[in-house]
Amino acid sequence: MRCEEVQERLSALIDEQLSPQEHEQLQHHLHTCEACFREYQELRRFVEFCRQLEAPDPKIDLWREFQPMLAEIVAEQKIPFAQRLRRQWNRLVSQVCYGIILFLQVVTYQLTITLSRYIVEPERAAYGRPAQG
Ligand SMILES: [Zn+2]
Repeated sequence: MRCEEVQERLSALIDEQLSPQEHEQLQHHLHTCEACFREYQELRRFVEFCRQLEAPDPKIDLWREFQPMLAEIVAEQKIPFAQRLRRQWNRLVSQVCYGIILFLQVVTYQLTITLSRYIVEPERAAYGRPAQG
């Protein structure tokens, strides 16, 4: 194998994408050729550097946030059925209450808009009526 061929395949060697036979040939060449071996080392160092850049530490540790929730669910499975049912019922009631509050806010908002039209209309009727003729 010529140096040129070897150096073209160095990247594939580092990524372990060569056939066992090619791998063997390249390794043999690298043991005997100083220039290619130096090229190989430089490339490998560069690839390792790039890999370190590609995989930064995750900023958000999802597991740490998720674990207490999971622990709570697991713990809830262990408590007696009646108690669990009551807890789930309380949760359901509070969620329904939130829903009702939200619904009432939307209805109130809509009602305010609708009523403001009727409250403003008489004034406009008295003062803002366009002149006839
Ligand atoms: Zn060589």
